[in-house]
Amino acid sequence: MRQRPSGLPPLHHDVVVVGGGPAGLQSARFLAERGLSVALLEEHPRVGFPQHCTGLVSLEGLAKHILVSDRRVAVNKVRGACFVGPHGVRLLVERSKPVAAVVDRPLLEQLLFEEVARKAEVILGARVQPELLGTGRPVVVATGVSGLARSRGGYVLPALQYDYLLSQSCGCDHVYVFLGSQFSRGLFAWAVPLSEKVYRVGLASKGNVLLRLESLLKRLHSLTGCAKPERRLAVYGGAVYTGGMLDRLVRGNMILVGDAAGQTKPTTGGGLVYLSVAARELAEAVSAGELGLYERAVRRELGAEMSVQLLLRRFLNSLDDKALERLMLQVKKLGLEELASKEGSMDRQAVLALKAALSLPFRSPSLVLNLLPKLLQSLLVA
Ligand SMILES: Cc1cc2nc3c(=O)[nH]c(=O)nc-3n(C[C@H](O)[C@H](O)[C@H](O)COP(=O)(O)OP(=O)(O)OC[C@H]3O[C@@H](n4cnc5c(N)ncnc54)[C@H](O)[C@@H]3O)c2cc1C
Repeated sequence: MRQRPSGLPPLHHDVVVVGGGPAGLQSARFLAERGLSVALLEEHPRVGFPQHCTGLVSLEGLAKHILVSDRRVAVNKVRGACFVGPHGVRLLVERSKPVAAVVDRPLLEQLLFEEVARKAEVILGARVQPELLGTGRPVVVATGVSGLARSRGGYVLPALQYDYLLSQSCGCDHVYVFLGSQFSRGLFAWAVPLSEKVYRVGLASKGNVLLRLESLLKRLHSLTGCAKPERRLAVYGGAVYTGGMLDRLVRGNMILVGDAAGQTKPTTGGGLVYLSVAARELAEAVSAGELGLYERAVRRELGAEMSVQLLLRRFLNSLDDKALERLMLQVKKLGLEELASKEGSMDRQAVLALKAALSLPFRSPSLVLNLLPKLLQSLLVA
């Protein structure tokens, strides 16, 4: 006989949400807004901690999907990104106005928590196995990335990041993305300005993240032209997932959402916008009493976009440093930097990626011939 988790009060709610990260909080929020009675269970004694996220989200995603309007949440805004290649080539993709915010992730979760706690029952310090909660009602599984390690381990990358005080103000309003094997195998390294004098510098990679990050910090000044990192203010660890959405999001009465469902961008590992999109669809489906609607709606919203991003991720992962640098040089030469600056979107990358890919055979046939085997390989693995 299955046992109930010990120490839990009886749960007579319409829906139980397991996990009080952003996916669980957004799901509970949207479910309660639709008039359902909700219990949310979180293993930690408070939400938002331990922190692991960089907190970079598009302004559009924040306003349209995350739906938290408190101005304190955005600690900084940036206009674009500078991509630094393995041997130094730089691509600058930026707009004249800010396109992204660095959000204070603990504050974001605290605000969501306060809203949820007004409408739903929240039980903190309760670690439960979702399968043990019975089959009588929907159980939302929002337990994060850990469940993916067994099935999609190759795409779960350990991550490490530091907040650093710089020796002088930098005044930079874009993020840096460092590509190449010395920074990361499987993703990239980043430096994100939290203020004029504080940067969040981190990376996710196969292999030793500590050694890579320490080596990046030594070179940060020469790579960015910003002041030198002077004092470490904070350390965060975590795991980033880039392997695409899981094949089945609904399993009996259990509904997966957020990292637990693989709902992160395969190109960057960012999850906050997509999990908010998914949480809203989840609430619609549960309130309609038809869980299958969730699976269909979320694939309609995110499926094609994420498939193209996954192809791109596999393709990028297959390139060695020389090929990556060459590709970046060609992108620069062909003016695709300007195209990305004009039409690029943090959350909808597929259209631009396809547009750029389709223009390459006409504009740089030799590059395409060179990269074709890698591209075909990425398609075949997919
Ligand atoms: C280094 C790093 C940087 C990132 N940067 C960005 C970024 O800049 N922008 C962006 O959009 N995304 C970013 N992400 C991704 C983003 O953090 C995740 O997509 C997001 O946190 C997923 O939310 P979640 O609620 O699904 O999972 P989590 O945030 O992991 O929350 C899961 C919650 O469930 C709880 N839990 C787990 N198991 C149980 C259980 N059995 N019982 C009860 N509670 C349980 C956990 O304690 C946790 O609170 C980053 C991730 C990392 C690691």
